[in-house]
Amino acid sequence: MKKSDRQLGMDRDITRRDFIHDLSLASLGLTLPAGVLGEALSENMESAGKYYPPTRTGMRGSHSGAFEVAHALAREGEKFPDPEDLDEEYDLVVVGGGISGLATAYYYRKQFGADSRILILENHDDFGGHAKRNEFHQGGEMRLSWGGTMNLEYPMFSNNVNALLDELGVDIDELLEGYEFEYGSGPKGSPSIFFDAETYGRNELIHGFSFRAGRGDKLDTMIDRFPVSEESRESLKKFYARRENVFEGKSEAEVSEILSGISYTGFLKKYGGLSEEAANLFIKTTHGYWGVGADSLSVAECMGAGLPIMQLLGYPELSGSGDDNAGGSVAMFPDGNASIARLLVHALIPAVAPGSNATNIAVARFDYSRLDEATSPVRLRLESTVGNVANRDGGTSVSYVNQGQVLRVKSRHAVLACYHAIIPHLCPDMPQEQKEAQEYQVKRPLILTNVLLRDSKAFDKLDIAGAYCPGRLHAAIWQVKGVNTAGYHHDWEDAGPVPIMFWGSVAPPDASIPIREQHRASRAMLLAMSFEDFEREIRTVLDGMLSSAGFDVQEEVLAITVNRWPHGYTYDYLDLWDPEWPAGQAPHEIARRLFGNIAIANSDAGADAYTHVAVDEAWRAVGDLNSQVGTPTKAAEKVVI
Ligand SMILES: Cc1cc2nc3c(=O)[nH]c(=O)nc-3n(C[C@H](O)[C@H](O)[C@H](O)COP(=O)(O)OP(=O)(O)OC[C@H]3O[C@@H](n4cnc5c(N)ncnc54)[C@H](O)[C@@H]3O)c2cc1C
Repeated sequence: MKKSDRQLGMDRDITRRDFIHDLSLASLGLTLPAGVLGEALSENMESAGKYYPPTRTGMRGSHSGAFEVAHALAREGEKFPDPEDLDEEYDLVVVGGGISGLATAYYYRKQFGADSRILILENHDDFGGHAKRNEFHQGGEMRLSWGGTMNLEYPMFSNNVNALLDELGVDIDELLEGYEFEYGSGPKGSPSIFFDAETYGRNELIHGFSFRAGRGDKLDTMIDRFPVSEESRESLKKFYARRENVFEGKSEAEVSEILSGISYTGFLKKYGGLSEEAANLFIKTTHGYWGVGADSLSVAECMGAGLPIMQLLGYPELSGSGDDNAGGSVAMFPDGNASIARLLVHALIPAVAPGSNATNIAVARFDYSRLDEATSPVRLRLESTVGNVANRDGGTSVSYVNQGQVLRVKSRHAVLACYHAIIPHLCPDMPQEQKEAQEYQVKRPLILTNVLLRDSKAFDKLDIAGAYCPGRLHAAIWQVKGVNTAGYHHDWEDAGPVPIMFWGSVAPPDASIPIREQHRASRAMLLAMSFEDFEREIRTVLDGMLSSAGFDVQEEVLAITVNRWPHGYTYDYLDLWDPEWPAGQAPHEIARRLFGNIAIANSDAGADAYTHVAVDEAWRAVGDLNSQVGTPTKAAEKVVI
């Protein structure tokens, strides 16, 4: 029977909400049209040294106060009142303080001189964009987790990215030495699958099972416990046991065409012999990795994500990777790529964290009051949503909203390191073709919710590192331990509080509609969800999964941080949904063209959702400005950190 909110502990006093000041619009002397700021402003006026957003819990990611101005502009077509001109003039204004925006500032100083005056404007209350640090102190010792980008996909790094990391002091080998994290597959505890009572009629946790690895003597016994029809169970058992080439006699090109032209779940039904019900169990396996269900991805794409198929192509193994660690070859900081963002900020504004470097960045305390000082050549201004960027008087003018006031600064150059879909609203004068190309970019919504538990005893008793949850909002959950790098330690053997990560995306109402419409629908659903919806979901899952091991859902949840990302992964082109464009004519290539003194960065500019792409695109954007200028004012100067 469904538990009441009380039984789930929803009334317990945990750290769960954003600290919202009760600021009335009038008290701020706002000059914006009514409604532009939305329901709430996040805390901003804390006294110096106290402003420290990484410890904020509740609804984070795209938090209240961060998106209302942009939505008023883009969705409701609001017009800004005339801006107040600030007496500030810069060489460069960067829109967006994510990895790409921060790297842009870094490269600009290298190419145009370390004394360049730079302003970075960021709409959130923290810098880093998706590189979001979640820091918990509720159980005593500090526990870290990541609220967005986590993996350094080092085998894919360009020379530029390697050089940048070198300059920041990041040593991938050292990161790998301290890295013992396997996305819910170990090293302590096994993977598992959790069927929940609301979706499947009963709670069933099947220890040791993984769709990716699906093997071993006990596989059939495990599948026998799946709360699905007998037909589905039998089809799954046969699927894992088969070893044949279903495309015998076809050429490589023919096979490749088939694999790129059919969805993974379609393949499972047509060639894998799975029932509809059994194939649907796989849908969410790709949610966190792609932001798209396996019913909207081609077989070729799902092979890349390590899903089983090879046994039907004539190979003995199920998947190319042959194991269950979906992370692949990656390195990691304990707060994910927030450490890269922090290293970049420190390189740009050393006063924020004197003495910090790549070996201690995870435990460095940042002084946010130093981010925006008039005496510093680089300034980073938070809670500032840009509403207009224009080429003007041989340079650019940039208007933004901060604390309800519309302000304007001048600069020689501007780089838009924000989402591409907002650019047509910021720069209405751009060529129509370029604006349409930018609108093609519909980011994939994602959710990454961190829940701090008092300890991991129930996980340990059940011997699970994490679980795949095919019926729930978050497709997978994992214990976050074993990323012992950059000065931080939290071993698998350690007692005490542990962050549990809930990872996934919102399934669209209808997966047959065009993919970018699916993303828009998921985004609307995500934004409509309240914090209580998330909390109820999390508690229901934890209770159903762990109560047999003595887990008390009312007592053991210490804090919840929901990192919701309605604009999550960059839209990269998909086999089933996008045409092949002629060279130079793909939407992202048109979208990122230089427009006067305004260049364009962000991972959107590479049509590829990775941290290293965000860096590469920053490098290109600064290069675009440089090629327009001619010779760099000061060539490739090393920025001293
Ligand atoms: C949950 C999640 C997990 C991920 N995991 C990985 C991973 O493991 N590895 C990996 O390589 N990549 C990962 N990514 C991809 C991630 O997007 C990139 O790694 C990278 O962080 C993108 O950086 P960016 O600067 O291009 O964009 P963003 O991080 O989105 O930064 C852009 C910033 O601009 C701001 N902005 C937008 N409009 C305005 C405006 N009008 N005014 C002011 N500011 C504005 C945005 O709010 C944002 O803060 C993940 C993404 C998500 C969401």
